[in-house]
Amino acid sequence: MKVITTIKDMQSEIMNQKALTKSIGFVPTMGFLHEGHLTLIKQARQENDIVVLSIFVNPLQFGPKEDYSSYPRDFERDRALAECEQVDFLFYPSVEEMYPSAPSVKVVVQERTDVLCGKSRPGHFDGVATVLTKLFHIVMPTRAYFGIKDAQQVAVVKGLIADFNFPVELIAVDIVREEDGLAKSSRNVNLLPEERQQAPVLYKSLLEAKNAIETGERHSERVIKQITEMITSESNGLIDYVEIFSYPQLKPLEKLEGTIIVALAVKFSKVRLIDNSIIHIED
Ligand code: AMP
Repeated sequence: MKVITTIKDMQSEIMNQKALTKSIGFVPTMGFLHEGHLTLIKQARQENDIVVLSIFVNPLQFGPKEDYSSYPRDFERDRALAECEQVDFLFYPSVEEMYPSAPSVKVVVQERTDVLCGKSRPGHFDGVATVLTKLFHIVMPTRAYFGIKDAQQVAVVKGLIADFNFPVELIAVDIVREEDGLAKSSRNVNLLPEERQQAPVLYKSLLEAKNAIETGERHSERVIKQITEMITSESNGLIDYVEIFSYPQLKPLEKLEGTIIVALAVKFSKVRLIDNSIIHIED
């Protein structure tokens, strides 16, 4: 595995691989790798000749009061894990390498950002779309792998790829969970022990909601109330949002039908967790 820290070196390695007509699977991450990331890497490994993993905690996608500085980082551990997964190139640029000066152009996401994390984190998806535009130009992937854990991100990236005609196939990968159901996240290490014990209620509430919908519930408000009550009574977490939309359009629904997303974000003392369930309603 080669660790590459400059854009120029990364592009020249990619040009060499392209000349050999190799397919390139790309997994963009912010590091502090866990089983969720490794699942994306494994799938990329199976489906491509070359696998590129990027690790970059992108300051553009964090708000001023968010956890950019406390976001967990451990490059040596990540490097060893990437090596085990047979990553070919680990792209690990510095902030100065990615943003040598104040950007003169940024990508602004126009749709699907007035809800869920887009509403709670103004500018977040502009930061995501801007860094991915750069990374797609640097890595030139055949396929890019994203987790459904960040379902709104998947929807936004689909729009970015379509609107800007990136010749990239987006592959969405299911949520990987801890044994107790908590969605794996780099941020989980910032939960206090008591909060870690309570956190599986997020998934439990989503399972209950799914069950209610599958047994005929069609009123969003009732489902949202049920989730809210369960999380509030079984944890100290503060609900940021519990919402239901069509997926991937992220439009409000009068009645639950078609493919929908039930999504939530809950703030604990040092960390905000997200989770979701995508449900296909057939009736
Ligand atoms: P991050 O490092 O948090 O930016 O995540 C990098 C990629 O891994 C994103 O596409 C995430 O959606 C994906 N990811 C993070 N957590 C999980 C998980 N528990 N299961 C599946 N994919 C995940």
